[in-house]
Amino acid sequence: MSKEKKVSKPEKFQAPRGVHDILPEEHAYFTVIKKVVRHRARQAGFRRISTPVFELKNLFTRGVGEQTDIVEKELYTFATKKDGDEYALRPEGTAGIVRAYIQHGMNQLPQPVELYYIEPFFRHDRPQKGRYRQFHQFGFEVIGEPDPGIDAQIIQLAATIHEDLGIADKLKLQINTIGCPKCREKFSNQLRDYFIGKERSLCANCVRRLAENPLRILDCKNEDCRILAENAPKFENVICEDCKDHHQKVLELLDAVDIKYTENPQLVRGLDYYARTVFEFWNESDGAQNSVGGGGRYDGLVEQLGGTATAACGYAGGVERIIELMQDSRMLAPDKDQIDIFVAQLGFGAKKVALQILTELRGRGVHALGALGKASMKDQLGKADKFGVKYALILGEVEVREGKIILRDMASGVQEVIPIGKAVEKVIKKIGEKNLDRYDPSGELKKDTTVRPEEELLIRD
Ligand SMILES: [Zn+2]
Ligand SMILES: [Zn+2]
Repeated sequence: MSKEKKVSKPEKFQAPRGVHDILPEEHAYFTVIKKVVRHRARQAGFRRISTPVFELKNLFTRGVGEQTDIVEKELYTFATKKDGDEYALRPEGTAGIVRAYIQHGMNQLPQPVELYYIEPFFRHDRPQKGRYRQFHQFGFEVIGEPDPGIDAQIIQLAATIHEDLGIADKLKLQINTIGCPKCREKFSNQLRDYFIGKERSLCANCVRRLAENPLRILDCKNEDCRILAENAPKFENVICEDCKDHHQKVLELLDAVDIKYTENPQLVRGLDYYARTVFEFWNESDGAQNSVGGGGRYDGLVEQLGGTATAACGYAGGVERIIELMQDSRMLAPDKDQIDIFVAQLGFGAKKVALQILTELRGRGVHALGALGKASMKDQLGKADKFGVKYALILGEVEVREGKIILRDMASGVQEVIPIGKAVEKVIKKIGEKNLDRYDPSGELKKDTTVRPEEELLIRD
């Protein structure tokens, strides 16, 4: 007796909620952003660094701040089965880089050390447009120099990149100073004195903040808290002379290089490590204040993570948010993946010659496709059309025997018969030298020819 068996379909997987695939079309944007960042960073003397995707969890609780949203709510953490060590996927770039600076003794290098990165980060954030749980940031860190000239140069670097990417006119630079720990403590005490006794008008979060960190009440979105905050003591009346002077100089230097900014006393940023300068680039085009990137000074962080007291300043830009803004601004990323030519063939003899031609074309910088499968000539040319190629080379057994090949203009359908040996030159002429994708690693890679000590001994023998 045959029993009917229900064949259940295998489960169809989806990417986890809040994360996304970067498909080839979006990669065109990633590529151009990476290229711009790399160029501008190198021009300004930065060198690239990559730190691990995960670190000991404590690095972030100590570095980013225990009471920040990032650490409190958004950290992806895991413990290893064997030793139970607690790790976290990195939610931002600065803590890991400062850890590396200390670990590798970079304070022995000429200061400041200037580093840049383009990397993925992870936050268990509420998924929304342009915000992902795995997202990418590029950033710059200048470690070992307290001068306000650094703050201004980092801001200028970010602004230049926005200019390059065609989104500068959509962005407004917001800048503020949050002072040093000294003036912050004074301010914190004044705020506490002001809010104590007014707890009934504060939201539950702010009642807690009043005990832990009254500064964060100023950041609350709650209507009642905001009204109350309006009459709170002002930081500008508390700030120390040194911090005031630093801030003034940053603004003057920005003026000197013609960078427009809005002074925003409300700007604080959600990370504990900042001191003095904080800034963000806002896109206000759809009414809301969407930050595409920001940064500031973090003079206390190196010491906080176990190094010696070292001044530092940085910036991080959100790649996905910038891509979204580029697309909103109708900026088209260059498509570097176009196929220039399709080589169609019939018969195994033709396939051999086609493969030789493809190899030569590719070596010369032509994007060339073909010599696949057993499809009919009609199917192959149909495929060439779908890839949007301008030209096709067509080769059958007869052509191979006669040493000839057909070059077809796909748009007009006009064909010419040329000697096989001249095909590559002809194609390159048609495409144009300047459109070739030339990459010759042998021109970049050099062999180290210096004599090592152990080799010197051999030579002497
Ligand atoms: Zn101060
Ligand atoms: Zn509140």
